[in-house]
Amino acid sequence: MLKPRGSTFPIRLVAFAATLFLFTIPSFAQQASDSVAPETASGTATKQLVLAHRHMVVAANPLAAEAGLEVLRDGGNAADALVAVQAMLGLVEPQSSGLGGGAFLVWYDAKEKRLTTFDGRETAPAEATPSLFLDANGKPLPFYDAVVGGRSVGTPGTVRLLEAVHGKYGSKDWKGLFGQAIDLAEKGFAVSPRLHGEIAEDMGRLDHQPAARAYFYDQDGKPLAVGATLKNPAYAETLRAIASGGADAFYTGRIASDIVAAVRAHPTNPGHLSLQDLATYKAKERPAVCAPYRGYEVCGMGPPSSGALTIGQILGMISGFEIGTLGPDDPESWRIIGDATRLAFADRDRYMADSDFVPMPKGLLDQNYLKSRATLLRRPTALGRDDVRPGDPPWEKAELRIDGFSYPEHGTSHFVIVDDAGNIASMTTTIESAFGSRQMVDGFLLNNELTDFTFAPVKDGHAVANRVEPGKRPRSSMAPTIVLKDGKPVIAIGSPGGSNIISYVAEALIAMIDWKMDVQQAVSLPHFVNRFGTYDLEAETKAADMARDLQALGYQTKVDDQNSGLHGIEITPAGIEGGADPRREGVALGD
Ligand code: GLU
Repeated sequence: MLKPRGSTFPIRLVAFAATLFLFTIPSFAQQASDSVAPETASGTATKQLVLAHRHMVVAANPLAAEAGLEVLRDGGNAADALVAVQAMLGLVEPQSSGLGGGAFLVWYDAKEKRLTTFDGRETAPAEATPSLFLDANGKPLPFYDAVVGGRSVGTPGTVRLLEAVHGKYGSKDWKGLFGQAIDLAEKGFAVSPRLHGEIAEDMGRLDHQPAARAYFYDQDGKPLAVGATLKNPAYAETLRAIASGGADAFYTGRIASDIVAAVRAHPTNPGHLSLQDLATYKAKERPAVCAPYRGYEVCGMGPPSSGALTIGQILGMISGFEIGTLGPDDPESWRIIGDATRLAFADRDRYMADSDFVPMPKGLLDQNYLKSRATLLRRPTALGRDDVRPGDPPWEKAELRIDGFSYPEHGTSHFVIVDDAGNIASMTTTIESAFGSRQMVDGFLLNNELTDFTFAPVKDGHAVANRVEPGKRPRSSMAPTIVLKDGKPVIAIGSPGGSNIISYVAEALIAMIDWKMDVQQAVSLPHFVNRFGTYDLEAETKAADMARDLQALGYQTKVDDQNSGLHGIEITPAGIEGGADPRREGVALGD
């Protein structure tokens, strides 16, 4: 793909000046010279495009990227490296993902030249009922009352996913993949600025849970300082057990009993997880969901995630418009993209949930259906609130409905790995909100993924698709993505950010495909997010500067920080290009 010489869209980003100073980042890969780094508000350059030729890891923390790179250098493949990356992320970025959470992986198998996906999403316990998040009067609980404690904890899926993927595709001995994380957990690592900031921000919740308080705060109850050494011997012991006993060591025996005890014996907000839920948990391999876009195939995670379907709908609806010619500086581009996103979210909210439990329309990505939806966008101004309704995709049974809602979320991480053979892992991994349920067991945090279910199970007399049911997986927005061109992978990308993930990933894909930006420019692009009518514009960027133009088109606007953590690669004639979101601490490393 041809690269522009410089950004078409000068960018000012919120400065995260501190983010990298703590880390010694070996400069393994060449910094590509033709990428113009975005500028921070203070005018300093942030991250550069990284070019490699054999393999690459892009992850949210330099220590995790290094752990993966070491496995690749040692002859391991992407299925080996992802185990090492996840084990390290659980230590150094514990607020975002780990053994106590869930994950989705999109995998490109270079030998078979095919894509597949793995669903390691948490499940609702067998004892959970649709009223899990209702109070005694049948009213939905306030969000954090539901989150903190045992109630929100779903059966973790990440460890089974790692084992399933490694068992099918790995080449190195499983046991050896945990060594780096075990060593660092014992020696200790420096608390990063982001981890410190999250610990400080969560005072009032995290520090009220004894195990988490003992780990993340000092003796006076102050958040651990930036650069403080944090050791986690309990985590080292847990990893040792998994390394020698496989996932069974996590899902049965001592660790399983500790998890169940923490959930069920929580003093104020106990949950329902049982030994049986853990022992019977299965990661599921599922076909990738793919949507065509301007000669590319954009592939990702189907239900229980809404990621690939919603992104596919957005791209399908905008494909009849000259987004490439309009460019990112024209408010008309954002009118079309923003209103397409609103229409896609209306379908998401009505139809999408765990399709193993609720029937879903087959035709959500039907191109004729999306073309007819796109006619709604042929107008000069924003759609009115009443114009944004779910459509009627090809399906005989359109009866389920809910309204969308979302909460700010920070608890997720995306990484991408390309190995020497060309296998690609695009994995989004999570414990849901920052620090999950705030329950720490055996050195790791338990998720609060069950709060991704809709709290009220019935609306206007209809059972909502994403209601709690025993064994069901909550609907996700996570969108690990791999894009194919002529059957070959060209882009792999994803992000944290709750339901904003869908907009972040769609925007980065549009930036690369329509606006010919490189992956670093695409992940650095200011965010314009419109899910439910109000245009959320990233503070201190060109997006915020466009507020008036968007208001003139009929939108309400809100200027705010955005919490993406887009990590991606693009495979170009030059090599493997990597980009890391300047809003977080991530890096791209490769050879
Ligand atoms: N739990 C969210 C989901 O599955 C992700 C949370 C986040 O990205 O912060 O969609």
